[in-house]
Amino acid sequence: MGKVLILGAGGVGSVAAHKCCQNSAVFSEICIASRTKAKCDVLREKLKGSTKAKITTAQVDADDVEELIALFRQEKPQVVLNLALPYQDLTIMDACLATKTNYVDTANYEPKDTAKFEYSWQWAYRERFEKAGITALLGSGFDPGVTGVFSAYALKHHFDEIHYIDILDCNGGDHGYPFATNFNPEINIREVSANGAYWENGQWIETKPMEIKRSYEFAEVGQKDMYLLHHEEIESLALHMPGIKRIRFFMTFGESYLTHLKCLENVGMTSIVPIHYQGKKIIPLQFLKAVLPDPSTLGPRTKGKTNIGCIFQGIKDRKEKTYYLYNVCDHALCYAEVGSQAVAYTTGVPAMLGAEMLLTGIWNKPGVYNIEEFDPDPFMKGLNKWGLPWQESFHPTLVP
Ligand code: NDP
Repeated sequence: MGKVLILGAGGVGSVAAHKCCQNSAVFSEICIASRTKAKCDVLREKLKGSTKAKITTAQVDADDVEELIALFRQEKPQVVLNLALPYQDLTIMDACLATKTNYVDTANYEPKDTAKFEYSWQWAYRERFEKAGITALLGSGFDPGVTGVFSAYALKHHFDEIHYIDILDCNGGDHGYPFATNFNPEINIREVSANGAYWENGQWIETKPMEIKRSYEFAEVGQKDMYLLHHEEIESLALHMPGIKRIRFFMTFGESYLTHLKCLENVGMTSIVPIHYQGKKIIPLQFLKAVLPDPSTLGPRTKGKTNIGCIFQGIKDRKEKTYYLYNVCDHALCYAEVGSQAVAYTTGVPAMLGAEMLLTGIWNKPGVYNIEEFDPDPFMKGLNKWGLPWQESFHPTLVP
């Protein structure tokens, strides 16, 4: 049917490429492009023979708009799936504008030198995308991504108004290392070492990192400690859920992870301020990334399950109502299917689905939009079909 260009051949890029290959009726051509072409070639070797899709690979520096434009002109994809790093979002959007190509990502823009993420930079492209007649779909991973689709679905089918959303991200998996991150270590550590924040009554309430702790009994995983984090979908959901009073995001962390993180922070290893080392300028967090296990190698070691979802409270037919939508994903089953652990899997599947929605025109709305601004139904159907079946509960335990 059409062509997708996947940018990035890391943990998430690899899962998305596998899933696009499985879905070759939609993705008849796939170009995998990244900074290190060898990684794209390894992926291509793994995939060819198992799919009808035609797979090509390319080298590109996604920080360089001109290089991207040249690549998009040569490959002529209908949609670019950005699975590189959040630092590259704007250059890739610029190249999409120049070549009139649809755009999908899974993480909002972050400047390299400031650990700060917000949608303003990408929302500023709305009018230009609209005029060019192309769509940018922002945040098509799991969180952000499926959590936004779950919210749109809950609002469409179960509520007149949603007042409270708690997003709970539980990883009950164990990779056997004392310390490793499940996706890009630099982005992950920037996220979890930042101040926490939640949205309440029209404003942001800021907390110290890991200041708010709760314990929750997760289906198929068990009791886990979870901590309130600032997360990007809070910003867009606060805007798009009419009548919303509070949105919080919690993620589970084990004792070992937190102790290691504290220690690394205390000695300065998580800093993004450059230092001089033996005549060279280095960024401690980037050096740390280089010595930590590569998340894309965790697959064969990780056992256990993830459970990610949203608890909604609101009003339906003038009565109070509670509703919980979640997905449980098994690390070992993901590895058996696509050679990656569940964190990459739960991101790569919705990334593929977002690209499918734009490529097929099922979602067709020129401009720049967050995922909850589209009809959730075809995406919810796709989750069940492509490996992330969702479950629902009408009487969940609430988070205090
Ligand atoms: P990885 O570090 O495993 O992979 C990133 C890939 O991008 C690598 O192939 C890397 O190339 C490539 N890349 C980095 N910089 C450039 C550049 N300048 N030009 C071209 N390619 C580049 O990351 P993950 O796969 O773990 O994460 C990918 C994205 O997914 C991130 O943005 C992350 O924030 C997001 N994510 C979203 C989640 C969600 O639920 N919404 C959850 C998890 C992740 P090289 O191999 O040369 O380094």
